[in-house]
Amino acid sequence: MVRVRGVHKSYGALKVLDGVDLTVDEGEVTAVLGPSGSGKSTLLRCINHLERADRGLVSVDGELIGYRHGRRGLRELTERRILRQRSSIGFVFQTFNLFPNLTVLENITEAPIATQRRPAAEARDHAAELLERVGLSDKAGEYPRRLSGGQQQRVAIARALALRPKVLLFDEPTSALDPELVGEVLDVIGDLARSGTTMIIVTHEISFAREVADTVVFMSEGRIVESGVPSRVLDSPSHERTAAFLAKVL
Ligand code: ADP
Ligand code: MG
Repeated sequence: MVRVRGVHKSYGALKVLDGVDLTVDEGEVTAVLGPSGSGKSTLLRCINHLERADRGLVSVDGELIGYRHGRRGLRELTERRILRQRSSIGFVFQTFNLFPNLTVLENITEAPIATQRRPAAEARDHAAELLERVGLSDKAGEYPRRLSGGQQQRVAIARALALRPKVLLFDEPTSALDPELVGEVLDVIGDLARSGTTMIIVTHEISFAREVADTVVFMSEGRIVESGVPSRVLDSPSHERTAAFLAKVL
């Protein structure tokens, strides 16, 4: 479903991604671990073309992201087509990023109506279903500021699902939450995993990664230095940096 090939990205002299390859099959969950600054967020942002890679390509469900093949090589797509592609790639941020001036329901229906041109009634029905799925049916009319961080993040997940994405990307979805609110968000993500949603999850929650991920990859200095089933990577890492990182976070 997701194919990342040879992606490089620098900011000035700082090399942030140094040739990343990653494949995520349909229905599979990949957890991305690694120290701060290793390029995890940049990788997610390159996948949905929020950042333009300097080199390398990304495809989702066989469709090249951000480019098309022209007669003289690759041409970048128009902003409109990129936005349309991006709407099939759900993104859940560390800090929720809900629209503060819209209700919970409006947060969820905004993009389906505005970007995907779905009928408002259909978008609202779907939003109601999604709110039930994340356990917030009673909050449809609330504004984000009246919700806890865990509730806001569950709304953000419902909002991402409303676009019926082919893949969901999570960037440390529980890092900004008080400890007692982490579980409710991980429960929702775990449910999605069990129902076959394709996901890439950057997280420091090691036991969660072990439980829900099909594959754990470990990033260090812009490269994936290790990749495998959770038990293999987490219990017997083959790279010394993975071992050092795990010793610190476990
Ligand atoms: P991670 O998510 O693993 O902590 P990031 O992908 O956020 O790592 O960042 C990797 C490195 O790139 C960091 O050193 C960060 O400061 C730098 N970086 C990220 N985004 C930018 C940017 N827009 N401009 C300059 N440097 C950036
Ligand atoms: Mg990050």
